[in-house]
Amino acid sequence: MVSVVNRVDLNGIGMTSQRTRQRLIQRLVDQGIDNAAVLDVIRTTPRHLFLDEAMAHRAYEDVALPIGFQQTLSQPYVVARMTELLLAAGPLKRVLEIGTGSGYQTAILAQLVDEVYSVERIKQLQQKARQRMRQLKLRNIHMSHADGGMGWEESGPFDGILVTAAPERIPEELLLQLALGGRMVIPVGGDVQDLQVVTRTHEGYETEIVEAVFFVPLRSGKER
Ligand code: SAH
Repeated sequence: MVSVVNRVDLNGIGMTSQRTRQRLIQRLVDQGIDNAAVLDVIRTTPRHLFLDEAMAHRAYEDVALPIGFQQTLSQPYVVARMTELLLAAGPLKRVLEIGTGSGYQTAILAQLVDEVYSVERIKQLQQKARQRMRQLKLRNIHMSHADGGMGWEESGPFDGILVTAAPERIPEELLLQLALGGRMVIPVGGDVQDLQVVTRTHEGYETEIVEAVFFVPLRSGKER
């Protein structure tokens, strides 16, 4: 009985069904996402499990949705784009994510890289995300309740860093925790933000500006 309930939960019904998900994938392809592995993981990851019940029916629309605490689950297009950019130079072993939030981006990453280290400053969001990882049996995720602007020094350096809240400028600590050859995908700015890809080279850091985005701000300190 329990397993039947779980299967319905994971596969979804009605507005969370496989057909609805396939429509979302087509939309992402139409918007230029072409990494097959990324598209496949988005197709098979139940986004509705990352939302409260009242929002779950909108899970496969290409929009950002509220997750409480004035935070949002990123729009699928943005998740896909950032993941694709992070993976563009080849497979990654250790990835640092700042802003666990619902854990959706974390779950996507965990299926595409070896180990994910995810930092969240709001304890209650982290706790919910942790339960979802358990439900999805994702075991290569390490979570920390801390100010992600400081990175996660003990676990670094990282060959990928993905930030899902926007600082006015990139924190020095994150740059220092990027391995040589590593890539960071990060929204930067205030009311107007750019998605940037920063690569660490022998000479220093190279920055590429990708497109305009809108994220909640990266805040310092942490909350219960
Ligand atoms: N990737 C998440 C996005 C959540 S919104 C998702 O798809 O659900 C951004 C998240 O970043 C919020 O949960 C917010 O609490 C968190 N955040 C903001 N500043 C932070 C900081 N300095 N350290 C860690 N997390 C931070």
